[in-house]
Amino acid sequence: MGALTRTLPDSTDVFVVGGGPAGLAAAIAARQREFRVVVADGAHPPIDKACGEGFLPDGVAALQRLGIQIPADNAWLFSGIRFRSGELSADARFAEPSCGLAIRRTCLHCAMTKRAKQLGAELFWGAPATGICAEGVRVGDRFVRARWIVGADGANSRVRRWAGLDHSRPQLRYAFRRHFHVTPWTDHMEVYWGQRCQAYATGVNHNQVCIALASHNPKLRLEDGLNSLPALRARLQGAEVVSNERGALTGNRQFARVWQKNVALIGDASGTVDAITGEGIGLAFRQAISLADSLRSGDLDAYQRKHRRLALRPKWMARLMLSMDRRPKLQQHTLKIFERHPEIFQRLVEFHVGVLPPSQLVRQGLMLGWELLTT
Ligand SMILES: Cc1cc2nc3c(=O)[nH]c(=O)nc-3n(C[C@H](O)[C@H](O)[C@H](O)COP(=O)(O)OP(=O)(O)OC[C@H]3O[C@@H](n4cnc5c(N)ncnc54)[C@H](O)[C@@H]3O)c2cc1C
Repeated sequence: MGALTRTLPDSTDVFVVGGGPAGLAAAIAARQREFRVVVADGAHPPIDKACGEGFLPDGVAALQRLGIQIPADNAWLFSGIRFRSGELSADARFAEPSCGLAIRRTCLHCAMTKRAKQLGAELFWGAPATGICAEGVRVGDRFVRARWIVGADGANSRVRRWAGLDHSRPQLRYAFRRHFHVTPWTDHMEVYWGQRCQAYATGVNHNQVCIALASHNPKLRLEDGLNSLPALRARLQGAEVVSNERGALTGNRQFARVWQKNVALIGDASGTVDAITGEGIGLAFRQAISLADSLRSGDLDAYQRKHRRLALRPKWMARLMLSMDRRPKLQQHTLKIFERHPEIFQRLVEFHVGVLPPSQLVRQGLMLGWELLTT
C-alpha cells in the first residue's frame, strides 16, 4: 500500500471512500459537475460481489445519464419479468423501447472504472480508508484534505460509523450467487418462488446465466435451494458451473440520516433494498446524480429528501413481494390471480420500474386484494 498511497494528492474537492458501483457512480456524477475527485478502495479491480447483476429500465436510464458504455457482447438485454411458482407462471413486458440489462459485476466494474478515468477522477486501489475527520480522509500513512467526503463503502460502512450515522434495525436475509455456462433460455428476468426461498435467473451474456438465491435461512446454500425449485434445476441440468459461490446479506435497511456535516453516504452504505427488487445498483446511480447536484448547491439536506423519495418505491415493492415469502398458500393464490389477470402483474411491474404513478397503482392493489379475498 505504501507506494500507492504516496501518489495520493494532498487535497481534493470530493473524496469517495469505496470504488464499487455506488462510489464510481458518485465519482462520475461529481466529475460531470467538474469537482476534483479521488476514489480509494481497499480491493483491487475488477471487483466482484454477490449480485443478481440485472438493471431494470430505470437503472439502464441512469447508466446512460452517467455515460457508462456497456460493450454489447458482455451484456444481455431482457424485455420483462417472469414470476414462477410450481406450475404457475406470470409475465410482464417493459414498455418498448425500454429494456433491462444484465452484466457480470466484474464487467460492469471495468466499464465504470473506464468512464470515471475518462472523466478525470483519480482512482486508488488496494487503498483502504482508515479514518475521517472534518478536514479529510486518512489512507494508511497519508492524509488527503477534502471538502466533501462520500461514504460508498458498502453495507458494513465504516464511514457511516465514523460519522455517527449508524443507527438502524436491519431486516436481513441471506443470499448466494453463482454462474452457469448455458445459453439464456428466455428474454425475461425470472424469479422462481419456492416455499422458503426465491431464486433469480438472469442471462448475463450469450452463454452465461447468473443465479442468485435469497432466504431467511442462513444454512440454505444455493445447491439446496435449487433442489427445491425443480423447474429451474431442470434448466441448469448438465450446465458447467463457472464461478465460485459468493454470499452476501440482503434486506431493506434504512437510516434516519444519510449525511452529517461534510460527509454523505451513498449506495448500500446509505441503506439497502432487498435483492428481490433488482434495484440496488440502479438506486445507487440515481442517488449519485442527486448527490452531485446537492454538492454543487452545497445543500445536503436536499440530498437527504431526494434519497428518501428515491428509496420509497423499491422499499415498498420489496415489502409487497416479500409478503409472499414463507407463505406458500398466498404465493399460489397470487400467482393464480396474476395468470388469470395478467394486467394486474403488468401494472405492478410498471410501478416497480417507475412508469406507473402510485395513484394509478391503488386501483390494481384494490383489484388484487379483492381477488385474494374472493378466491
Ligand atoms: C444476492 C444479491 C442480489 C442482488 N441483485 C441485484 C440486482 O440484480 N440488481 C441490482 O441493481 N442490485 C442487486 N443487488 C444489490 C447490489 O449488489 C448492491 O446494492 C450494490 O452492490 C451496492 O453497491 P455499493 O457500491 O454501495 O457497495 P459494494 O458493492 O459493497 O461496494 C463497496 C466498496 O467499498 C469498498 N470498501 C469497503 N470498506 C472500505 C474502506 N474502508 N476503504 C476503501 N474502500 C472500502 C469495498 O472494497 C467495495 O469495493 C443484489 C444484492 C445481493 C446481495
